[in-house]
Amino acid sequence: MSRLLPVPEGGFRFPDRAPEDYPRPELNPFIQKHWDYGSPVITATQAQQLGGRWSEPFGRDAPLHLELGSGNGFYLAHMAGLHPERNWLGIELRFKRVVLTARKLVAAGVSNARIARYDAFMVDEVLPPGCLAGMHVNHPDPWPKERHAKNRLLARPFGELVLRLLQPGGLLRIKTDQRGYVDDFLAAIEDLPLKVQGVSYDTRNQGTPWPAEDDRITNYQRKFY
Ligand code: SAH
Repeated sequence: MSRLLPVPEGGFRFPDRAPEDYPRPELNPFIQKHWDYGSPVITATQAQQLGGRWSEPFGRDAPLHLELGSGNGFYLAHMAGLHPERNWLGIELRFKRVVLTARKLVAAGVSNARIARYDAFMVDEVLPPGCLAGMHVNHPDPWPKERHAKNRLLARPFGELVLRLLQPGGLLRIKTDQRGYVDDFLAAIEDLPLKVQGVSYDTRNQGTPWPAEDDRITNYQRKFY
């Protein structure tokens, strides 16, 4: 599958190296842990081997909702419990957070969620067009310095990627405390046929543009709430 987003400079993101190819794997025990975990963890290589057949790891066909950058997995575990009728997939780059999310999913007892290790900038390598009923992005790295702006996920190419991955009528939900970041994104995708259902600049006092009970305060959100 092709790739739509320019991959930012700056170090390793992919591919999935074999454990013995890491110069000092003992420096990060979560590399091995994530390989050994098994379901609900999907390694980057396994994600590629699926060839876009995302109902397979869930063992059923159901609307697929993706959370990009799921961090410690609070949102994913909670939303999977709230919506058992959906298949929930988290994607996270960092090994430790993949394992922490997997533990959350197991502790929550949800069977409809998986956590894949992959790079958010490369997801169209493994996700076929129109495969998603929903895309959720919570507190993406803001990269506030201008010289790092090229690393920002929320930009026009991401809007185009979302359009390609979402089914017609699919949902894009973004939460961030970085107002400028999201405003720039909304301006950059103005002419794309992505329907914005609502924007809130003060979710604590005014609420979200979606029902409060259909949400979960995330780890990063709690830091400024
Ligand atoms: N959604 C969580 C975490 C937000 S922090 C929350 O709201 O609490 C941003 C997350 O994105 C981090 O966990 C970081 O590891 C992950 N991340 C950053 N760049 C990424 C990339 N290129 N691909 C996948 N995940 C990425």
